[in-house]
Amino acid sequence: MPQLVTTIAGIREKIAAARAAGKNVGLVPTMGALHEGHISLVREARKECGCVVVSIFVNPAQFGAGEDFDKYPRPLEKDVQLCDEAGADLIFAPSAGEMYPEGFATFVEPDKPLAAKLCGAGRPGHFRGVDTVVLKLLNICTPDAAYFGQKDYQQSVVIRRMVADLNLGTQVVVCATVREKDGLAMSSRNAYLNPQERTQAVCLYEALLDAKTAIETEKITDAALVKKRMADIIDKVPAARIDYIEIVDPESLAPLEELSGKVVAVLAVFLGPARLIDNMILNAP
Ligand code: AMP
Repeated sequence: MPQLVTTIAGIREKIAAARAAGKNVGLVPTMGALHEGHISLVREARKECGCVVVSIFVNPAQFGAGEDFDKYPRPLEKDVQLCDEAGADLIFAPSAGEMYPEGFATFVEPDKPLAAKLCGAGRPGHFRGVDTVVLKLLNICTPDAAYFGQKDYQQSVVIRRMVADLNLGTQVVVCATVREKDGLAMSSRNAYLNPQERTQAVCLYEALLDAKTAIETEKITDAALVKKRMADIIDKVPAARIDYIEIVDPESLAPLEELSGKVVAVLAVFLGPARLIDNMILNAP
């Protein structure tokens, strides 16, 4: 069983002991309610690191007013079990008070061109909360490598940028999106969907597959055309409401009009009580 540690002093002590034993350290930051997507990151870390730390922290700083912070699932016992099966050594599950004690007043603010568009447009302050907690986790755990999912593409870009800009020296590893059988990207928030919504949620993946066909097979380079086709697929589901559909540069996240080389199709869709996101890296002609 991995050891469950809830204090910063405690996890520092355990990690120092692992380092003293000659182990390198891998960190998998999560908000818990773990699924096979998270577990794939733990397995990747397990392959590369002598000491694998999974952090489980529902970070209040990355939730906006009226978002799902209170109802976000927190099945800690089951998470510990899954971490055990995946071979994690340590679980760091601090309280909000441990991470943000009275008087906390310092945040990391990613610049607007990366953080104010796509998910950041509808969730102002979200990436400020993400960067702040990830920097804190990196400072607390001092991992050699930290593992993130491509599922949250914009997040992975924002974090890679922060790690480079602040010279953190941690290796950022971005792992492929793990999907359900029908193609829906695994997400803790899929649990919010009723059976009908769950079936309909595959429309995000279908839209991405259509973008792949349009760009890679049909060699369409007009982004507007590709986005229109994606939107038509989502619009076939009456309960779905598009937040955004974009095709962006993989590094700057700038929306593209004419497609060439590596591009990323990204989308966010409200479906019932959930807001679902997904993306696909594509090769334009
Ligand atoms: P979360 O608990 O949603 O904050 O996610 C924690 C980490 O797991 C993030 O780096 C996510 O990108 C990653 N992740 C979430 N879902 C998936 C998935 N389906 N496949 C791969 N990685 C994922």
